[in-house]
Amino acid sequence: MGGYNGEYVLVNVTEQFARILLPDMIANAGGCTCEKCKLDVLALTLNCFGGSYVTLKSGEDAEEAAKMRITDSEHIEIMQALARSIDFVRSSPRH
Ligand SMILES: [Zn+2]
Repeated sequence: MGGYNGEYVLVNVTEQFARILLPDMIANAGGCTCEKCKLDVLALTLNCFGGSYVTLKSGEDAEEAAKMRITDSEHIEIMQALARSIDFVRSSPRH
């Protein structure tokens, strides 16, 4: 009993999936790939979604878990939200 850093971890599958898609999408859109802009894009994108948390065993592959859980329509929604966020950050970078 006690802390939150034991046998299990809390993972947001939407975040994991967005992190998988993000690098290629920013590169294809010609967006800035600095850490600040990438995190701004992720923050804007994930604020569009409700929490989608799952509990995984510590050490379990979070990316694989996300790929297994995200449906085709969620995949499209995440891509569309990422594209909007990339456009927004590109037009008003905060760095
Ligand atoms: Zn940047």
